[in-house]
Amino acid sequence: MEIQTEVLVVGGGATGVGILRDLSLRGIPALLIERGDFATGASGRNHGLLHSGGRYVVTDPEAARECVAENKILKHIAPHCVEETGGLFVSLPEDGLGFRDEFVRGCETVGVEAAVLSPEEALELEPKLNPRLLSAVRVPDGAIDPFTLVIENARDAEKHGGRFHLHMSVTSVAVDRGAISRIFARDSVSGEEHSFHASYVINATGAWASQFLALANLRLGMALSKGSMIVTNQRLSQRVINRCRRPSDGDIIVPNDLVSILGTTAVRLENLEHFDVSRQEVSLLLGETSRMIPGISDVRLIRAYAGIRPLVQSEGAKDDRAITRGFVLIDHEKRDGVKNLITITGGKFITYRLMAERTCDLLCEKMGLSLPCSTHVKRLPGAKEPAGFRKRLTAFSPGKGEVLCDCELVQRQDVEGFLTEGKMKDLRDILHRTRLAKGTCQGGFCVFRLLGVLHELGLVKGDSNRVLAGFLEERWRGVRPVLWGTSVREHELIESIYRGMLNL
Ligand SMILES: Cc1cc2nc3c(=O)[nH]c(=O)nc-3n(C[C@H](O)[C@H](O)[C@H](O)COP(=O)(O)OP(=O)(O)OC[C@H]3O[C@@H](n4cnc5c(N)ncnc54)[C@H](O)[C@@H]3O)c2cc1C
Repeated sequence: MEIQTEVLVVGGGATGVGILRDLSLRGIPALLIERGDFATGASGRNHGLLHSGGRYVVTDPEAARECVAENKILKHIAPHCVEETGGLFVSLPEDGLGFRDEFVRGCETVGVEAAVLSPEEALELEPKLNPRLLSAVRVPDGAIDPFTLVIENARDAEKHGGRFHLHMSVTSVAVDRGAISRIFARDSVSGEEHSFHASYVINATGAWASQFLALANLRLGMALSKGSMIVTNQRLSQRVINRCRRPSDGDIIVPNDLVSILGTTAVRLENLEHFDVSRQEVSLLLGETSRMIPGISDVRLIRAYAGIRPLVQSEGAKDDRAITRGFVLIDHEKRDGVKNLITITGGKFITYRLMAERTCDLLCEKMGLSLPCSTHVKRLPGAKEPAGFRKRLTAFSPGKGEVLCDCELVQRQDVEGFLTEGKMKDLRDILHRTRLAKGTCQGGFCVFRLLGVLHELGLVKGDSNRVLAGFLEERWRGVRPVLWGTSVREHELIESIYRGMLNL
């Protein structure tokens, strides 16, 4: 099929979807294509930290300044995706106080609100902290729900005329007389080939930016840095807990609704398509984070996952943690003589809106238009709704049908709404739209109930066990690296349900 648009955005992570919303609000016709579901790249595979900027004040002040500004904007435009937890940077005896002093000066310079607390004050706020801590600094870190934020941007873009095609992977790019003339893409569900013609193309493919550019015979040096994270079965702290030292492995614990996320590692990758969390990374993360909260060693782990940082190689950076977290915006007309192509990559989840604003400003300049950005003031559609578990508790109603997922209070109607809309090409995308199977049993007790609903709605075509296996595979990939102790026992029970009772 031939598809025409003014602007084609490639990549459905926060950056691409943010660009689609920004363009739609400016009244510029745009279409986004994404090879998986929304947020299947780094946007759905991060800590969900709403940076105060603290993490970068010493090593990357420019990136820290961007975080300070965007932190405030996101709290205004998307309060329902944010939990204002606050954060602590804790110094342990082995860290000393040298870095703490540098950190406090950095916060002052960059404009991050910071207050030094005594060990007693810190322990009063967070009783599970290591009682041997020397000091803590309080900063306005927070937690963000990346899935909801991305979906909300897409909803608002669609409301203002933006279009998207999911599960559509760019396979080749035709360049003719200094401009992209055609983009060819394959629908991974139907197998159909499509040809897109656009006046302008925006490459928002994150860590895949150099792969996309290679299709047009262009180059960009990127460092592919994998970061792994572990989810615990309970929330370990009210605030984000950071180690007060130069960024390193296992130095952050981020509360996420009812659970906590332990992070992270930095492992250089060659292959972007096949990556998993290794046992060594799990051990490293547990060892390091339990220095900050010793009780971690007794907690059940429910899942591990990894993402790839979209880092653009900079000269002189000794390792991946030294590469800037700032973003890179490339006008390929100036750099390579390709008139209608822009690349935006690097940055952070929390700076997605700013990245989108700068990209759309550049595009408007190239198009000779003067249309101001409004995404820093216009709130997202659900901005008046409560956030997180509180939202699910207040939305709970016997009239919404049976509870499918007990851990996360997902009811039949929450799921049916998406299923009957007819917009999901792959049924597994329901796992990104709702909290189903995200709780402590990781789908063990809800995936078979979902299958029942799919049958009743006539959505299962062919073998039911194949559909069931598809859902469980996605969860199993995350569970496998953390299988020991009580997790093994729980998974033997789940295995017996699916093998013994459901003949899987
Ligand atoms: C371990 C880790 C922890 C992090 N923690 C945080 C944090 O706590 N807070 C924070 O602010 N940031 C964090 N980040 C950074 C943040 O996640 C990323 O900077 C951000 O999500 C990048 O968004 P993006 O839209 O640019 O890229 P992505 O979200 O990766 O989106 C790119 C999309 O392009 C698609 N794509 C690629 N090739 C093609 C193709 N050929 N055709 C069609 N589509 C294609 C991909 O499928 C993908 O969905 C973290 C990153 C990692 C890896």
